[in-house]
Amino acid sequence: MSDRLPGFSTLAVHAGAQPDPTTGARATPIYQTTSFVFNDADHAASLFGLQAFGNIYTRIGNPTNAVLEERVAALEGGTAALAVASGHAAQVVVLQQLLQPGDEFIAARKLYGGSINQFTHAFKSFGWNVVWADSDDIASFERAVTPRTKAIFIESIANPGGSITDIEAISTVARKAGVPLIVDNTLASPYLIRPIDHGADIVVHSLTKFLGGHGNSLGGIIVDAGTFDWSTGGKYPMLSEPRPEYHGIRLQETFGNFAFAIACRVLGLRDLGPALSPFNAFMILTGIETLPLRMQRHCDNAKAVAEFLAGHPAVASVSYAGLASDKYNQLARKYAPKGAGAVFTFSLKGGYDAGVSLVSKLQLFSHLANVGDTRSLVIHPASTTHSQLDDAAKVKSGAGPDVVRLSIGIEDKEDLIADLEQALGA
Ligand SMILES: *Cc1c(COP(=O)(O)O)cnc(C)c1O
Repeated sequence: MSDRLPGFSTLAVHAGAQPDPTTGARATPIYQTTSFVFNDADHAASLFGLQAFGNIYTRIGNPTNAVLEERVAALEGGTAALAVASGHAAQVVVLQQLLQPGDEFIAARKLYGGSINQFTHAFKSFGWNVVWADSDDIASFERAVTPRTKAIFIESIANPGGSITDIEAISTVARKAGVPLIVDNTLASPYLIRPIDHGADIVVHSLTKFLGGHGNSLGGIIVDAGTFDWSTGGKYPMLSEPRPEYHGIRLQETFGNFAFAIACRVLGLRDLGPALSPFNAFMILTGIETLPLRMQRHCDNAKAVAEFLAGHPAVASVSYAGLASDKYNQLARKYAPKGAGAVFTFSLKGGYDAGVSLVSKLQLFSHLANVGDTRSLVIHPASTTHSQLDDAAKVKSGAGPDVVRLSIGIEDKEDLIADLEQALGA
């Protein structure tokens, strides 16, 4: 064996997995079981007291899920990870460790529509207050910081317009404010951007999208960068104070640079309950093995489609950071040199009606509310994912009435372009 560190594609296939020690099975088995037998009473007690690591009950952990966790932690360059049932579950579990009722977190306004809803309505009912900032105006994050701010939340490549966020600039604001930077890396995947390399303290994903990649399984994951000191100023009592549920241990003191991942598991997942099914973990692991190949094809196809649209007479504008003329092209070159992702928007000269009509005429593109599938997808955000926003908020979040969002798949790009051509022309 050489002592070179494995590359990204090697990690995507192998990280976290070994042949099954009892059967020799080479693919990771689906450990479809709710619970695990203890060796003896002492073993059981030490597992429950967090003195030993091991399997207890699938709501808290499962060996198939553990391979997925190790693999994504390796791909993102984190110390540990926790898989959960969905991307939204990951966001709840992360913020539950950081916020007490009455606390605030700052979020970029350009976000997945579901996250805007979750932050505005569901989190408000927990007493967690979102304060919006504009990722094109770094000073707006600084202005939003108050003594109650506990975290900053951004997307690396942002929904729906595929804009690129200046992670390093916002991480500087977070450092100064003494709060962790959480990056939703769903649209980039670690193949395109590794937010931890740019100052993120926590990375979250909807595994439902590019990591699983085949539009067949929901999942979410939280990656701990191991970079944040949770003990300063008593701001994060879940991590720094004695936990009554675990005989008074302090998680930061006991678990050091993976304390946050442990907190998410033993205080978040255990008590809130959004466990990932081992079957879904298996499907997502299988998807991740081809992530580098798929992601490159997604990006290459997206660039070709964006170039075609930019030259079409019915199209008013294309918002794709991979185009040299795009506002975010400089940031794309810095953060995502292999490609600017595969989700982007364009606007039609014919406005809202033209958007609705295009969506109904496309044949190869599926009209649905998802991204990051092998198949190409289309949606008209103003009438669907972003319909709950008022007109001004729609425009601010990049989902104005004339905007259509595409998620480009891995088909032949000539076929995708031909489908768009017939739907735009007819
Ligand atoms: C889909 C998505 C989510 C939510 O994930 P689910 O798995 O659907 O719960 C969060 N963030 C982004 C960027 C997404 O695309």
